[in-house]
Amino acid sequence: MTYALVLHGGAGARLGTDYTEQNQHMQQLTSSGQEMLIEGGFALDVVAWVIEQMEASGLYVAGKGSAPHSLGGFELDASIMKGTDRRAGAVAAIEGIVSPIQAAKSVLTEGRHVMLAGVGAHHAAKLAGLVEVTDPQAYYSEHVSHGSKEDADHGTVGAVALDIHGELAAGTSTGGTFNKLVGRVGDTPIIGSGTWADDTVAVSCTGLGEAFMRANAAYDVSARMRYANVSIGDACQQVLDVVKRFEGDGGLIAVDAKGNICMPYNSDGMKRAAVSSTMDPVVRVFEPEA
Ligand code: ASP
Repeated sequence: MTYALVLHGGAGARLGTDYTEQNQHMQQLTSSGQEMLIEGGFALDVVAWVIEQMEASGLYVAGKGSAPHSLGGFELDASIMKGTDRRAGAVAAIEGIVSPIQAAKSVLTEGRHVMLAGVGAHHAAKLAGLVEVTDPQAYYSEHVSHGSKEDADHGTVGAVALDIHGELAAGTSTGGTFNKLVGRVGDTPIIGSGTWADDTVAVSCTGLGEAFMRANAAYDVSARMRYANVSIGDACQQVLDVVKRFEGDGGLIAVDAKGNICMPYNSDGMKRAAVSSTMDPVVRVFEPEA
């Protein structure tokens, strides 16, 4: 019975900041997610559930913890993808929905389109019965744990999983970058840039979205593994090197079809956690894996 779960709460974590709360939260999610996978839960559902909890916590720059855009409103991005059939769903610049990742999942489930933006995304999420944010200024907790706006770190959330049925899935959700312009859409909802899953690997990225888009980062991990026959670890590192060329700081998490995992970053730290059928849970912000 092979399974694996990796999650991240954003790269660009600042040295000297106390992430105890995030670590405890990621630890709980890792252990609940592990139970779900052992009980036969599907990777897509586990990924969506983990991200939904992170969005609701207000501990990351996603969902409740999102930062406002240049006009003071809140536009969020999310996407999710399933490995075997490459079905995907994404929402860009969505407003007024508590869980953008569930909105993205409902786009996937509905199946007609892959991405919805703005009012259309909100409308579809409402039709799908998702909970709305009635008072945005009161609901969004303004990145409580992330320091001043100038000093704020990337706090996007994401998860990748391999389930015991052999299915891979990946998802990512964000409030975007700090001081972003109204209407700005980053890599997170772009299938292939911020999120990717096929039958080789599932990937979720965090960091400066413009650089990850120019690198088409998430898809490139898979392309390198399939076309150049490199390991998941080498593929992830090579992609981060490309992202760096575009002055992108950040990181990514990945799991392959054999349950090998990888969570590299080129910033000071990345909030991350992982567990698999062959590995005890790991929860970390700093100290890269060997
Ligand atoms: N990648 C996200 C974006 O550019 C930000 C992040 O990962 O924190 O919107």
